[in-house]
Amino acid sequence: MSRIIGIDLGTTNSLASYWDGSKSVLIQNRFGEYLTPSAVGIASDGSIIIGKTAKERQLTESGTCVTNFKRGMGTARQYTLGDKNFTAEELSALVLKSLREDAERFLGEKIEEAVVSVPAYFADKARKATRRAGLLAGLKVERIVNEPSAAVLAFRQTHGDSDGKILVFDFGGGTLDVSLSDCFENVVEITAVSGDNRLGGTDFDMTLAKKYCENFGMPFEAQAPQIQAFILRAAERAKRVLTVSDWAEMIADCEGFKEGMRITRKDFIRMNMNNFERIGRPVKRVLQDGKIKPSDLSGVVLVGGSCKMQVVQEYVRFLLKGTKVEAFHPDTMVALGVGAYAGMKERNITSEDLILTDICPFSLGTDVINMSDHDNPLMNVIIPRNSALPTSRESIYVTSHDNQKVMNFGIYQGEDIYSKNNIKLEEFEFAVPPRPAGEEKVKLRFTYDINGILLVDAVLLSRNEERHLVLGADDDSEYTKKQIEKLKELRSAPWEAEENKFLQAYAERVYQQLNDDYAKERLSGQLLAFTGAMKTQQDVYEIQKEGKALTALLKSLEREYLSEYEIHDKYIDEFLDWYEERDIDEDEEDSQGWNPK
Ligand code: ADP
Ligand code: MG
Repeated sequence: MSRIIGIDLGTTNSLASYWDGSKSVLIQNRFGEYLTPSAVGIASDGSIIIGKTAKERQLTESGTCVTNFKRGMGTARQYTLGDKNFTAEELSALVLKSLREDAERFLGEKIEEAVVSVPAYFADKARKATRRAGLLAGLKVERIVNEPSAAVLAFRQTHGDSDGKILVFDFGGGTLDVSLSDCFENVVEITAVSGDNRLGGTDFDMTLAKKYCENFGMPFEAQAPQIQAFILRAAERAKRVLTVSDWAEMIADCEGFKEGMRITRKDFIRMNMNNFERIGRPVKRVLQDGKIKPSDLSGVVLVGGSCKMQVVQEYVRFLLKGTKVEAFHPDTMVALGVGAYAGMKERNITSEDLILTDICPFSLGTDVINMSDHDNPLMNVIIPRNSALPTSRESIYVTSHDNQKVMNFGIYQGEDIYSKNNIKLEEFEFAVPPRPAGEEKVKLRFTYDINGILLVDAVLLSRNEERHLVLGADDDSEYTKKQIEKLKELRSAPWEAEENKFLQAYAERVYQQLNDDYAKERLSGQLLAFTGAMKTQQDVYEIQKEGKALTALLKSLEREYLSEYEIHDKYIDEFLDWYEERDIDEDEEDSQGWNPK
């Protein structure tokens, strides 16, 4: 049996772990630390440096280090370091290689395989890029797992496999990912994801940095990059002090900034109002998407370095009043979970033993004609975002003009209404017999699972001509072939019918709950259109269209009339009051603490 390590390849920090036979254990890097900053730098002699060393050198020599490249995974974006250009994939490979070397030293054996975690919303291209980065680093990526799934796994290993709904709040350096999972017996199912991929710990550093500069009458933006780096570092340090203490003194200690600024936790909350508000939004969205109230949650897991902030923990407790919020080593949770996955892989425990059904983090669909702007086709979604995986769905498309000879299908991934703004995965044509518009029909079926392989089956109904495409299978290994065979079995599953029944039942329930005549009328109208389409049978396209309209209406009605859980801006004020009441020890004479002493 060869050893497989787990890797949490983060935007800010990366960690490695392994399975010691009974539990997941973190691996120390060459400095004896668990966290390796995801930073790649170039030393004065031109050699590549990774992690802490790279970050440190950036302080004395700007332009010698790149960070945050995880955002560019799967894109062609170039990052410049010295006189060379790198892609995010190459930079990630350098970090992975450093983690592999540290693991080899720590474990005293050669390491060639890994399980790597990625955000749930990572598109297929970014997942592939992660696999390739592994290969470049000498690691075969045995499996890609979603970060929230890993966090839930780690949580369940320490807290017992209790059943229920768990919310994972992952707040890192530059991103906030909120997800909802359903756990029952040995199944962990992620049912909804949301987040803000432009909000993280660095935003809090930036607020402090700006405030600090403002005190000296010197805008942060006007400072040289070197000075900015020093001020940001001082801000981050002050933020960390606030994690353990009620107040902190921030001093940048560089040219022009020798004075200190005293801040309390309450000042910190007030300065970061905007950031706190932004934290609330995805939390609210994920609860709405999951159709639950905070009191329905059986646990909340705080993950990511920014959850170490006491005020963030308190804010989440405030938002989800009444639920148990766990903050147990938030910055290592994902890595521990990935280590547990690696252990399962090593022991050949397949997903049948611990089934983790994931969700599709993006929508998949095809382009259709836009009647009001022919040059700008619309995205027609076949597999909607947040569908539980694996899934198989179909939709019917008709010719749009008389004597049309070919039907063109682009296959897209993304959320934009216009297909051109989404990612094009493939394109194909179907020659059709020339007939009046609308008479030729092509049925498209998409089948997709967590391994990122998409099967596309197209049938020209009049001739029963078929076309099959396999997207995303990079290699023709036995493993991939098996995955494809498994997917093929899924095609015939009767998803549509069940979904429709569910939608009808759900609409009927909402109808009963509604207490407003106009809202009831709108709902009954759309419900009739939908059940009507179902009765006439077989026109899947019509059923889908009415079903979509019904789903959209239900969402808006629920939001407008039934939402039991709203976050308003005034919540921040309420939060401060709440915080003040429970926080009895804090120094009262704090609010004027901005001026340097
Ligand atoms: P990512 O998932 O983006 O790689 P991490 O989970 O490692 O990131 O979180 C990094 C962020 O956590 C940074 O913004 C850092 O400032 C913040 N952080 C780490 N430790 C603390 C702490 N003790 N107090 C406050 N913030 C912290
Ligand atoms: Mg992370």
